[in-house]
Amino acid sequence: MAILMIFSSLETHSDTNKGTDDMDIFFDAHCDILSAITKPEELFSNNRHWDAERALSNGNFIQVLSLFGEGRNQHEIKDKMEGQLAMALLAEKSYPERIKIIRGKDELSNFVNCSEPHKAGCLIEVEGAEVIGESLSELERLYEAGLRILTLCWNYDNAVCDSAAGDSMHNGLSAFGRQVVERAEELGIIIDVSHASDKTFFDIAEISRKPFIASHSNCRSICSHRRNLTDEQIKCIAESGGVIGINLCPDFLNNSGNAGLTDIIRHIEHISSLVGTEYIGFGCDFDGIESLPAGISGVQDMGKIIEALLRLNYKEKDVEDIAGLNFVRLMQVML
Ligand SMILES: [Zn+2]
Repeated sequence: MAILMIFSSLETHSDTNKGTDDMDIFFDAHCDILSAITKPEELFSNNRHWDAERALSNGNFIQVLSLFGEGRNQHEIKDKMEGQLAMALLAEKSYPERIKIIRGKDELSNFVNCSEPHKAGCLIEVEGAEVIGESLSELERLYEAGLRILTLCWNYDNAVCDSAAGDSMHNGLSAFGRQVVERAEELGIIIDVSHASDKTFFDIAEISRKPFIASHSNCRSICSHRRNLTDEQIKCIAESGGVIGINLCPDFLNNSGNAGLTDIIRHIEHISSLVGTEYIGFGCDFDGIESLPAGISGVQDMGKIIEALLRLNYKEKDVEDIAGLNFVRLMQVML
């Protein structure tokens, strides 16, 4: 598979003790393609950052598909997200040989153990709790429909919490937001703190009982953007057992906004030095960001990051973990 092909092309020694746990897979924890297309078949081929065909050119691939709507009108946001969810479900129904939406542990295990080179595994995430309004029963309905990751907010405060780009409407997580976190964890929906304000972050860290993730955020000590995580926050996520997805947005990679592969590696190195490689994954933000780092044109280039890590003499196992296994293992526990 792809990572192993990269290994052998670099003439590194192969892992001598590969167990069944050592499947080779890419996992990307954030992508906005659903809000950029209008027809299910566009998921498989398009001219944007991400399509299933190019994702699968890396090897086995699991993509978190984000439901996303921009604007201040909550009803409009909800309508957009529901339309995107319907499109993902229709894609799976119409093209079962090309896409599998993963809803549970068994489906995840089947997907990773039975290599199907032309099928993308997908998880449904929502970027902003606007989709549930102020209703826990809506959260439950969406879980039934396939929702497995809840990014509590985007760039506005909402009924659940304050955003990193918001006005501190609640001073962190609202009373309703606390109920949402608790119910989501009971259901098996993973809480995602990317876009949350610092106060929201620490409120979640305090009340959550399960691992939580930052699906697409980098290190604030390297790039001072408020969307990035402080060292303390990185440690909190690791303590919870969660994973951090490295975001390829140049503005989140360095303070100049012009980024390349080296900048991506610097964030990986930093998290690695703070808490270890087992808490690092990718949340590339394809089709949610306007520009990409030099050398990366889309999902087909994720292998270049892997190659760069191998050239730096990262251990094979650590590189496989970062490429996908850290998130896969977390999902195996959480779904
Ligand atoms: Zn985002």
